[in-house]
Amino acid sequence: MADVESLDSNQKAPLKRKRPNVKGNYGDYPADCHKTLNSNERSYFKPCLHTGPCNSECPCVKDKVMCEKTCMCDADCPRKWRGCKCIASGKACSITTACPCARWNRECDPDLCSGCGAAETLSPTNRYDLELAKECCQNVVIQRDIPKRTLLGVSGVSGLGLFIGENVKKDGFLGEYKGEIISNDEAERRGKLYDRRGVSFLFTLNKTQVIDATRAGNKFRFVNHYKKPNCFARVLFTNCTHRIGMFAKRDLVAGEELYFDYG
Ligand SMILES: [Zn+2]
Ligand SMILES: [Zn+2]
Ligand SMILES: [Zn+2]
Ligand SMILES: [Zn+2]
Ligand SMILES: [Zn+2]
Repeated sequence: MADVESLDSNQKAPLKRKRPNVKGNYGDYPADCHKTLNSNERSYFKPCLHTGPCNSECPCVKDKVMCEKTCMCDADCPRKWRGCKCIASGKACSITTACPCARWNRECDPDLCSGCGAAETLSPTNRYDLELAKECCQNVVIQRDIPKRTLLGVSGVSGLGLFIGENVKKDGFLGEYKGEIISNDEAERRGKLYDRRGVSFLFTLNKTQVIDATRAGNKFRFVNHYKKPNCFARVLFTNCTHRIGMFAKRDLVAGEELYFDYG
């Protein structure tokens, strides 16, 4: 199953070059927030609801994750995520810029990131304003939810496959891997059924949740496994939940079948 850690290790060289390593570089945040970054090391987010400051009894502290905007602690809690201060000019915020949101594997938050244009990009009135989308925050693609054109067809490797219907630049957003969000226990039960059928669309979301695309998925469940993948998944923390974005691993030409390494 794909997770941020395995993606990082698969693509060690390019990611290292493009993104400063967050490990050991927590900015103004306490170092014991390090599990915020890796979806496979943390459960789904539950805000802390206690009164008073976040101490050793706080579930966020216990889980070694940041507090979020929905936590009940004070606004000046040092572990509360404060968004980025990027400026919306010439492609603000992306995995190739120094945006702290992107570095922490999160999408920008229109409630917290005030200067990067996340709110403008996500405003329903600007949804199809492509010029604005080019200039403003590039780190809200899952929330914006405008997938690239894709087509179903007979796969080159097995059964049906998904083909890209337009040219896409490297690292470009293809779409969200959607499905039912279920618990690990439920995934275990369903997995036994699916194994008997020989086909499974379960995708690890975080330490406690799995996405099942079998009945409620979108076209991205038809992306086949192939050892030479041309797309990759990123689990991003998005408005206090984990979601999975599919991205181009290299420049894609319209008509190519999409392959993903499920290993
Ligand atoms: Zn707390
Ligand atoms: Zn908290
Ligand atoms: Zn807190
Ligand atoms: Zn930013
Ligand atoms: Zn942004």
